This record gives sequence, structure tokens and C-alpha cells, in this order.
Amino acid sequence: MRAKTRLIHGGIFGDETTGAVSTPIYQVSTYKQDAVGKFRGYEYSRTGNPTRHALEELIADVEYGHAGFAFSSGMAAISSVMMMFSSGDHIVLTDDVYGGTYRVMNKVLNRFGLEFTFVDTGDLAAVEAAVQENTKAIFIETPTNPLLKVTDIEAVAKFAKSKGLLTIVDNTFMTPYLQNPIKLGADIVLHSATKYIGGHSDVVAGLVVVNTPQLAEELHFVQNSVGAVLGPQDSWLLMRGLKTLGIRMEETNSNTLKIAQFLDQHEKVGLVIYPGLESHVGRELMQKQATGFGGMISFDVGSREKAGELIAKLKYFTLAESLGAVESLISVPAQMTHASIPVERRGELGIVDGLVRISVGIEDVEDLIEDLDNALQ
Ligand SMILES: *Cc1c(COP(=O)(O)O)cnc(C)c1O
Repeated sequence: MRAKTRLIHGGIFGDETTGAVSTPIYQVSTYKQDAVGKFRGYEYSRTGNPTRHALEELIADVEYGHAGFAFSSGMAAISSVMMMFSSGDHIVLTDDVYGGTYRVMNKVLNRFGLEFTFVDTGDLAAVEAAVQENTKAIFIETPTNPLLKVTDIEAVAKFAKSKGLLTIVDNTFMTPYLQNPIKLGADIVLHSATKYIGGHSDVVAGLVVVNTPQLAEELHFVQNSVGAVLGPQDSWLLMRGLKTLGIRMEETNSNTLKIAQFLDQHEKVGLVIYPGLESHVGRELMQKQATGFGGMISFDVGSREKAGELIAKLKYFTLAESLGAVESLISVPAQMTHASIPVERRGELGIVDGLVRISVGIEDVEDLIEDLDNALQ
């Protein structure tokens, strides 16, 4: 089965009971038992729900893993994966991870005795140097947000395996259509499904796929114990989103490359960061580990004021947090998504005040380019 077919025919197709082609929304909390302890597969919807189960089977299939899990948000997914570890364990992470990931590690989970070191995971020597006696996992995000730095998943996973560590990949930016970390040796892959997988700015959700029965048992135990599960209606929306993920990502890739090339030669724009540009240091690596460059571009317009002016003039780019939807979105990371990162740390990372990030949608690319051109003048 090829990728677009898998998105539609993977997992559990339709509904066995009625023949419904679309998996029904089982809006239910509890299930009749035929005798005490004799269930027909489901007992209580925190533990398992048929609609959520269909989604979990589908995401496991499209990420080439053993089992999938659906959570109430990307952060719930990340936090639940972290709860597989214990007080005193140490985890190495990519330095410019998603702002919320940085916050939950450094302001919440650290209070429970988990330890974290943030390094440039694009530099394997830095990863190796960060590993301690109590290190249990390497958590990478590639490409990163908003600087689009690329990490070699296969190289990190190979190193991690040699040290007995787990490799966890936040695959939100690439989606299961463009990049499959488990195929590259990762153990756990997770998504903020709020972004491309949902795809229509109408659902907040998180997904995790693990590659072994043991990890599946451990994560199901956390999912059922902690309870940050996804509801049936939202599970259905994600299945609907996954069906068109392939065609949406094809269009996104093509629109974004054209816009990046346009911005790159524009006199009012400084640095343009897009992994598909010849100038990007991670381009070759992206070509090796992914089947497209994705829909995110970051570019420097010089100052906070100029960023504000650009945003005010744009017609088709909506000023909003989030990304990965059918409509194009624009944000200023230093004041929005990355505001929770201390200012000195932002400076170290290169998230300057004039840096604008766009998430390219699937509108006609000519309209998007004209809109940017008008607003930049
Ligand atoms: C949005 C995002 C998250 C958090 O997901 P939510 O669904 O907002 O909780 C995590 N990682 C990345 C890369 C994201 O873009």
C-alpha cells in the first residue's frame, strides 16, 4: 500500500456492525457487560473507545509502528510520554523545541525530578556529550520551530540504540505523509494533531505511535491512569483530516517552495529559512529522510515594527498561533509562540524580533505571492 492509499485504507476501514463507510462517532462513556467482567472489547471510554481506537489503529499504520494512542492535545501526548519515565531520569532534547515543550519540561516536569538537557541535536557530538549515566531518552524535533534546523533521525537513533536509550521524535512539522521516524529507527513518534493532521483549525489533539508491544503496554497504562484522552468527536475529525493529508501536503509543499523562492529574491526581506532552498544547510539531509520540505517558512523583515506593518497589510495570511491548516497563517515567534522562552535564550537561539513565521495553506499560490508582494512594498 502506498502513502495516500494507506491514509484512506489503513487502520480499521468503516464500521463492521453496520457497514458504515465512515467510522461512527461512538459518543459513549460506558459499555454493557454480558456478565460481571465479561466485556465485548470495551468497558469504559477512558480505557478505550471504538472511535478513538479506529484513529489509534490508523495512526499506527501510517507511521509504520506497533500501536497508536490519541490524547486531548499535543502537550497531553508529550506529557504522557514523559510520564513513562521516573524521578531521577534524564532526557536530552533539541534546543529549539516547541515553546510549550520547553515550558512543560522546565516548569512542570522538573518539579517531579525529571532532568533535561537541551542541545543542538543537529550536532551528533553535542548529543553524545550531553548523555549522562541517568539518561534514558533523546527527544528530537526536526525540522524545528521556527528556525527549521534539521536533525539526522537515523544517526541519532543509531547512537541512542547503542547506549540503550529511546529515541522520541516530535514529527508535527513533517506529518506521517512526509516523514516516518520509526522507519528511520526511532522508538516513539508523536504529533500535535492540532496542526496538519486535523488540518482545518478546528480541533486540538495529540497522537503518539510506539514501535514495540512493551512500549505500547507502558503507554496505555499511562494513558488510562492519567486520562488525557481524546474524545470520540475529535477522534473522528482527525480520521477525516488524515484522509486528505496526502493531497494537502502535496499542495502545501509545492506552494511553500514557490513562496520561499519568491521571498528569497525580495529586496525587503533579509534571511529566508526554508529547508527546500539551496541555501539551507539541512536540505540534503531533509531529502534523505523526508519526501518533502513542508509548509513552514521563517524570514526576517528587520524589526518588530516592520513585522507589525507586514501583518497589518496582508489579506490572506491570518495572524494566529498554530500552523498546518488549509488557510495560510502568520505569526511573530518572539512575541507569540516563543514568548514563554526567556528573552536571553531567544537571543542565543536566533529568534530575533523581526522574524516572521508563515504556515502556507492550500490557497492559489499566485494569490499568496501577490498578497506578500503588496504587503512588503
Ligand atoms: C503545537 C505543537 C505542539 C503542542 O501541541 P498542542 O496540540 O498545541 O498541545 C507540540 N509540538 C509542536 C512541534 C507543535 O507545533
